[in-house]
Amino acid sequence: MRVRFKHNVTARQVERVEQLLQQLRCRYRRSQDDSGTWLGVVGDASLLLDRGVDRMPGVAEVLPYTVPYKQASREFSVEPSVVRVGDVRIGDGGVVVMAGPCSVENQEGLFEVARRVKAAGASILRGGAFKPRTSPYSFQGLGREGLELLRAASTETGLAVVTEVMDTRHVELVAEYADILQVGARNVQNFDLLREVGHAGKPVLLKRGLMTTIEEYLLCTEYILSEGNERVILCERGIRTFDTITRNTLDVCAVPVIHHLSHLPIIVDPSHATGDWRYVAPMARAGIAAGADGLMIEVHANPKAAFSDGPQSLTPDRFDRLMQEIGPLARALGRRMHTGNETPPPVDGA
Ligand code: PEP
Ligand code: MN
Repeated sequence: MRVRFKHNVTARQVERVEQLLQQLRCRYRRSQDDSGTWLGVVGDASLLLDRGVDRMPGVAEVLPYTVPYKQASREFSVEPSVVRVGDVRIGDGGVVVMAGPCSVENQEGLFEVARRVKAAGASILRGGAFKPRTSPYSFQGLGREGLELLRAASTETGLAVVTEVMDTRHVELVAEYADILQVGARNVQNFDLLREVGHAGKPVLLKRGLMTTIEEYLLCTEYILSEGNERVILCERGIRTFDTITRNTLDVCAVPVIHHLSHLPIIVDPSHATGDWRYVAPMARAGIAAGADGLMIEVHANPKAAFSDGPQSLTPDRFDRLMQEIGPLARALGRRMHTGNETPPPVDGA
């Protein structure tokens, strides 16, 4: 349920309701919009009503959720969530860029890409150490060695690291090395994995599945949120449609829809959405124009020799050009680029 307060409510009255929620061990979030102050609550609604929450001073009304994905919804928090990863803030209105190779292949290639994407203004380094491959005979990733290389590249460049975890048995290991745990498209409904990353103590980037409806997708986030991990970032990476010219179809519309339905930030991955480097820049621009909180882009020092996803990987030079294009675009839309090189705003700013 959610509680709307009267316009003249006092801070003390809101706190009294919060104290009751704490006593009853409910999860809640306070937020504010033009219609006033709200508390989104998840817990035993009948218990709360028995305790007369709807008659407490300052309370205007108590409403049920109208959607099944309670904690992910705008009904739980009318204000957008900002996910902090070190100095990087995802969802504060700025544009955050995550970039790097599809797979971590070796130290030289990874470090070259890390340095180049950092110099171009990315703030998060991506790269898979555990790879979900369609064929079991394809390169499966370097595992722990890949994680160690990512950490070393992060130490050198200052970039935070996002990398995929595919298996509940690896969550602890990946969380030791990663700043953000990525759950890939194929695992979007691996509910055990979602629960596990829900208490790994790290932000989670949850990619949309190839066939996942937006409602299903938001319900997937609920598995993570309901374990107590509020730091969830969504990622539209293309869905499967009848067209086979592109690898997938980028559902740009998912960006405003998710911003409307949910307080969680959403980024766009034009690399997996298109499968072809030629379409990456236009779709990255489309994502920003649609309001995405950031981008995830595959970059490889030598795409032709990549172990995975070479055809959709940008060279570092192409990535430079993309970054030069999107800066003015973001600013024209009244948005700020988070370059990994800026001084972070004060914690209570934005
Ligand atoms: C990836 O990011 O390399 C990846 C495998 O992505 P997705 O899960 O979106 O296919
Ligand atoms: Mn890939």
